[in-house]
Amino acid sequence: MPNCKVDKDACIGCGLCIGTHPEIFAFGDDGMAEVIADGDEASIEDAVANCPAGAISAE
Ligand code: SF4
Repeated sequence: MPNCKVDKDACIGCGLCIGTHPEIFAFGDDGMAEVIADGDEASIEDAVANCPAGAISAE
């Protein structure tokens, strides 16, 4: 199970998390971000803190 998740109802598809952490996030077919792999703690904290929609949460 991935150690963070994206709330697709909240995600606005801005692509920030994918641009900064492409090893963890990718666009899904719906144009919203998806978690594709576990990330290290610092990267996840960064993604959570910088998502403009507050859509990323650590597990
Ligand atoms: S940073 Fe947040 S709003 Fe932007 S694509 Fe990632 S999860 Fe979606």
